[in-house]
Amino acid sequence: MKLTIPFDNSFARLGVAFYARQPPVPVKSPVLRAFNQDLADMLGITPGEVAEQALVFGGNLVPDGADPLAQLYSGHQFGNYNPQLGDGRAVLLGEVVATDGMRRDIQLKGSGRTPFSRGGDGRAWLGPVMREYVVSEAMHALGIPTTRALAVVETGEDVIREGRMPGAVLTRVAASHLRVGTFQIFAARGDLKSLRALTEYASDRHYPDVTGPMGLLKAVRDAQAELIAGWMSVGFIHGVMNTDNCSISGETIDYGPCAFMDTYQPGTVFSSIDHQGRYAYSNQPDIAVWNLAQLATALIQLFDDREAAVEQATEIVHAMPALIESAWMRRFRGKLGLTSPRKGDSALIDDLLARMTAGQADFTNTFRALGSSRARDQFADPASFDQWAEGWQARSDSEPDRGATLKAANPAFIPRNHRIEAMIEAAVAGNFSPFHRLTRVLAHPFQDQPDENDLKNPAEPDEVVVATFCGT
Ligand code: AMP
Ligand code: MG
Repeated sequence: MKLTIPFDNSFARLGVAFYARQPPVPVKSPVLRAFNQDLADMLGITPGEVAEQALVFGGNLVPDGADPLAQLYSGHQFGNYNPQLGDGRAVLLGEVVATDGMRRDIQLKGSGRTPFSRGGDGRAWLGPVMREYVVSEAMHALGIPTTRALAVVETGEDVIREGRMPGAVLTRVAASHLRVGTFQIFAARGDLKSLRALTEYASDRHYPDVTGPMGLLKAVRDAQAELIAGWMSVGFIHGVMNTDNCSISGETIDYGPCAFMDTYQPGTVFSSIDHQGRYAYSNQPDIAVWNLAQLATALIQLFDDREAAVEQATEIVHAMPALIESAWMRRFRGKLGLTSPRKGDSALIDDLLARMTAGQADFTNTFRALGSSRARDQFADPASFDQWAEGWQARSDSEPDRGATLKAANPAFIPRNHRIEAMIEAAVAGNFSPFHRLTRVLAHPFQDQPDENDLKNPAEPDEVVVATFCGT
């Protein structure tokens, strides 16, 4: 049976101001390395033969109904405005309305040069492609909004990064690829016609109930507040929260030098290019607010009465920290097995986190072990945990179903960074079994999987990954 994708390309219909038409650049010898059958089914794709999948998802064969294009955007990178970015190594093949009724983008990443490539080669190498596949699928299984991974194709061509690396193309699936930066570029250029059309398009697509630019701003704020609280609750560090990597839909997007923490250290930074720690774990809520302020700045251009618009937008942005805080509280209350709010919960959580930092406790394993005798073993000073646990027991004893709440809120398995690195190393050597094992286990992160317990272990001292490189 032929590979078919039921495309319906609404973004392409928006007009050429928003993109450059650009087919993927064919690769030398495409080999399919991963295919996400469940996701393909959800998207309504007829999978076809492996050989055809390699051609389509490597970029050598443009499937019927696709209308490949590179999207235009700009953005603040590490706080500095870059007036033109855009898809420099990705093309949107098109969109499908999936079996759940939701519209989704299908994008090839690493698909060759585009008019927006600037100095880049338009390619990706296997390492970051595999990392994005595993981590985005794990994020989905953790219940946190995210883009997803449909396929990996190795290209048979080398790319030059920290050496010669095997090239690869990731097929990424997203609610859309609209970013804060997509709005910024039209605002910065004073192209209000496009900015208005984009605002209407984004609202219709993601938040059909909202009205006007301020309605969209509020909806993005709420979605981003939930997202950041989700990241914080699993110890995730995005690494490059630039405005061009901040999705309007509220999904996690653009997995670059990202990682999950092992020991709980709020200042943790992984990205080798984040010298100032701008995107450290504990800064993520503040950065999300900063990014929303950039969206607000863009949307304000649409109002004739600027002063009133600034006032309204400021109010919307200023409400965001409290929204993140309450989403965070809801998540962390759940992590302590608490279902209903009570006074003192916040202090109880903060106290545990402070003791975890001092005691170098593993973030994931500590929460997963709460309620068992193993929690105290996570601490350099177990007595410090015991002191905390007395108050927690007193507070949580009355919770009707504490054990179940704890298990549902605290994953046993996360994509630990040293495992990702080992998986990449194996893949580069042609061994994809660590990849298959990780994706299989991480598809059920809240389930006990006793045969897989070694995947729960934090890195041994010689395995610790201190930085993930941006040489993506
Ligand atoms: P990222 O840090 O991956 O979000 O990318 C930031 C910007 O750089 C985007 O406009 C990308 O399209 C562009 N970019 C990143 N890597 C490459 C590459 N290898 N070739 C061309 N453009 C790239
Ligand atoms: Mg990006």
